[in-house]
Amino acid sequence: MQTTVADHPLIAHKLTALRDVGTDTPAFRSLSYELTVLLGYEATRGVRVEPAEVRTPVGAARGVRIARPVPLIVPILRAGIGMLDGFAGLLPQADIGFIGLVRDEETLTASAYATRLPADLSGRDTFILDPMLATGGSMEAAITMLLTRGAATITAICLLAAPEGLARLEAAVRSAAAPVHIVTGSIDTRLNDKGYIVPGLGDAGDRLFGTI
Ligand code: URA
Repeated sequence: MQTTVADHPLIAHKLTALRDVGTDTPAFRSLSYELTVLLGYEATRGVRVEPAEVRTPVGAARGVRIARPVPLIVPILRAGIGMLDGFAGLLPQADIGFIGLVRDEETLTASAYATRLPADLSGRDTFILDPMLATGGSMEAAITMLLTRGAATITAICLLAAPEGLARLEAAVRSAAAPVHIVTGSIDTRLNDKGYIVPGLGDAGDRLFGTI
């Protein structure tokens, strides 16, 4: 498994504002969008492209376009929705699937309540969106679903990650059939006994959408 911590002063600045308990929901949403675009630039560095030729007003130009089959973007509900606009803006050609996972707050295990994915992902680059890589349970479940469907590559974009979650994923994907890449803005210190990332930013879903 490859892990990239995007090292950039703009990302560090925006992450600091995102963490701030005084940041309200509208600002939190904007920052999540902006951070996803910045992390998405890093996460799409290896996306498959194919040669393309276009005509400019003054001649022919050789370039590239996103290869087919087009990539698949998979936000994990609900907090991953806060990253969807930013990432889909970078890859508007991509299809979008959904995985709804709920975490049992006692056992911290993830179970799926909704899955909307193509049955066959062979040859496709896939991008999972989840702001918080905490215990790694949800991410492991999502990665397993994509591997089972034959994804060619899996890249997860997380605003923050915990060492415990990264270690769990590292062990889980050791013999995976496809490369797995995690792109994050920060590896924080640890998880607390409720499975929250410390120092983290609290509950990302609540901060994005309000407490319900
Ligand atoms: N999910 C969150 O929203 N926050 C955490 O710190 C961990 C999991």
